[in-house]
Amino acid sequence: MISVQEALNHVYNQAKPLAIEEVDLLQARGRVLAAAIVADRDFPPFHRATMDGIAIDAAAFEQGQREFPVEAIQPAGHPQLELQNANHCIEIMTGAMLPVGCNAVIRYEDIQLEDQVAYVQLDTVTAYQNIHLQGADEKEGQTLVNAGTKITPAIIAIAASVGLTQLSVYRLPRVAVCSTGDELVAITEKPQPHQIRQSNSYMLIAGLAQEGIIADRYHLPDEPAFMAEQMAELVKSYDVLLFSGAVSKGKFDFLPQVLQQLNMQTLFHSIAQKPGKPLLFGKFDNGVLVFGFPGNPVSTWICYQIYFRAWLYRSLNITLPTVQAAASKTLTFKPALTHHVLVKLINEDGRSTAIPVNTSTSGDMVNLMQAEGYLSLPAEQDTFEAGTLFDVQLF
Ligand code: AMP
Ligand code: MG
Repeated sequence: MISVQEALNHVYNQAKPLAIEEVDLLQARGRVLAAAIVADRDFPPFHRATMDGIAIDAAAFEQGQREFPVEAIQPAGHPQLELQNANHCIEIMTGAMLPVGCNAVIRYEDIQLEDQVAYVQLDTVTAYQNIHLQGADEKEGQTLVNAGTKITPAIIAIAASVGLTQLSVYRLPRVAVCSTGDELVAITEKPQPHQIRQSNSYMLIAGLAQEGIIADRYHLPDEPAFMAEQMAELVKSYDVLLFSGAVSKGKFDFLPQVLQQLNMQTLFHSIAQKPGKPLLFGKFDNGVLVFGFPGNPVSTWICYQIYFRAWLYRSLNITLPTVQAAASKTLTFKPALTHHVLVKLINEDGRSTAIPVNTSTSGDMVNLMQAEGYLSLPAEQDTFEAGTLFDVQLF
């Protein structure tokens, strides 16, 4: 049995840089950018009015001019005009180009307009007031978003503003989710008294979807020959196989032996942790990775969160989302195992508190719904006072 850290090191060793692919702009949210987004022009691209009003030459105001006859109108989206007479003004709208010969914008609120003459009701006008100067935010050629960044809606907007219809992103692995167990029936079926409906694979598929991974779903009965046959096919078509169930010590937990029969190299099987002790991790010769999660829904979910996501995020070279939170009560756990505790979080005055979610049995699926993340109590210590700070990994 190995420690959580040793297990994580095995997982990290199998992380590998993912290939690059192009995706349509609107398919890119949540993916990791593989090439920097660069400004194709200045931001903003011209001196831009930030208020509706009039554009003038501030020097005229300086020299005592207060009444400015309106020469023309400069709306947004129209080519730049030129002020013909330095003592006149041009009406201007937010988003419009500052006309040639003008260097200040005065808001409608600060003028009175009568018979095409603007009377300025200000004591001072400063050059470039109410103007967003060309290149003030970014200069042409400057990097706007670095490669390696997870793409958010704001980044989609930046990409759109530089005219990118596609983005270079890191490829995501092809994943198969495979449940096992003769007690499981399809969710469309009415279970017999000795059966339960399949739920883990739905949970895993939904979790993967949060990462942008569209996984396929399979089910294997507790029958080694059949398992081996199916698995031999899966190994040909996916990068990662996620199994739930059949990895413990039960008479019908055939997964480890079937994988071995197919020449998978077992990297570890069982970790000093609770829940999720019998977790299995291995690798086929062609590089396909296997995570065998114990079947209890809480174990499946925790192991997926800790080990699969560690592998995925390391491969994508990004960090898992965490928040520091104080334990809401004293936590005690005696056995020399790392204890993973599901928690919900409350936020008060900028401080987070982690409240353990009661999972009396590791199969307590309904309570999973409450959990927003987990924290880990290291194996070396058995009591953690209320208020102790933990890094909580968010689901
Ligand atoms: P196992 O790891 O196969 O021994 O399964 C442990 C427990 O988890 C058993 O009570 C199973 O019925 C349950 N279980 C296993 N797989 C699933 C699944 N896909 N959905 C819901 N429960 C499951
Ligand atoms: Mg089973």
